[in-house]
Amino acid sequence: MTIAQNLEAVREQVAVLAPGRQVAIVAVSKGQSAERMREAWQAGQVLFGESYVQEAMAKQEALRDLPLEWHFIGPLQSNKTTLVALNFHWVHGVDRIKTAERLSSARRGAGREPLNVCLQVNLSGESSKSGVLPEDVALLARQVVHLPGLCLRGLMTLPELTTDLEQQKFRFRALRQLLEALNRQGLALDTLSMGMSGDFPSAVAEGSTIVRIGTAIFGERHRKS
Ligand SMILES: *Cc1c(COP(=O)(O)O)cnc(C)c1O
Repeated sequence: MTIAQNLEAVREQVAVLAPGRQVAIVAVSKGQSAERMREAWQAGQVLFGESYVQEAMAKQEALRDLPLEWHFIGPLQSNKTTLVALNFHWVHGVDRIKTAERLSSARRGAGREPLNVCLQVNLSGESSKSGVLPEDVALLARQVVHLPGLCLRGLMTLPELTTDLEQQKFRFRALRQLLEALNRQGLALDTLSMGMSGDFPSAVAEGSTIVRIGTAIFGERHRKS
């Protein structure tokens, strides 16, 4: 299967599961070459997701001639926040106020429009995983929403991989309910970033507005990632 065929298959599946709804597809290109990303662009893909800053910078340089939208989906190291704030359109994995403040001031310092961010939620409560715990999301959201360099768009989650469809849906439903609760408390969040190659049909069925898909589009990753 070519990248174009894979993309078409993913788009079709999403369209069938979310008739009349807009679900954005971020092509996760970590571990993939700039050439393969260009191939995806030629098949109509505009949104790309990267997890490693250095790798992303090199590919942004190589693809500078294309008007791509860049989503940072990896863990944020504090010494990289400025690079991320200035070179991405979205950041999906914000999970502490310090990081949010750094992103905000870097973005504002450069006089740029606010950066779109999602708060990453750790739904399974494992201490080894990044993400804010569900009971702490509201507090973090209330702080982040006031940062002038950020536009708080919604929530993101990276649940443990499972092939159990009910378990997948259970997690994604929990994220949707968290978002709904925040909106009832006066926020106006429009984004649920949930669903990857192995579980995106469940995520879309539960209300995902952005899916982040790598291997189902590009095949196995070639570089270490
Ligand atoms: C790698 C990654 C993805 C994509 O994973 P696939 O299984 O290749 O679709 C999505 N989201 C995040 C945060 C990732 O790190």
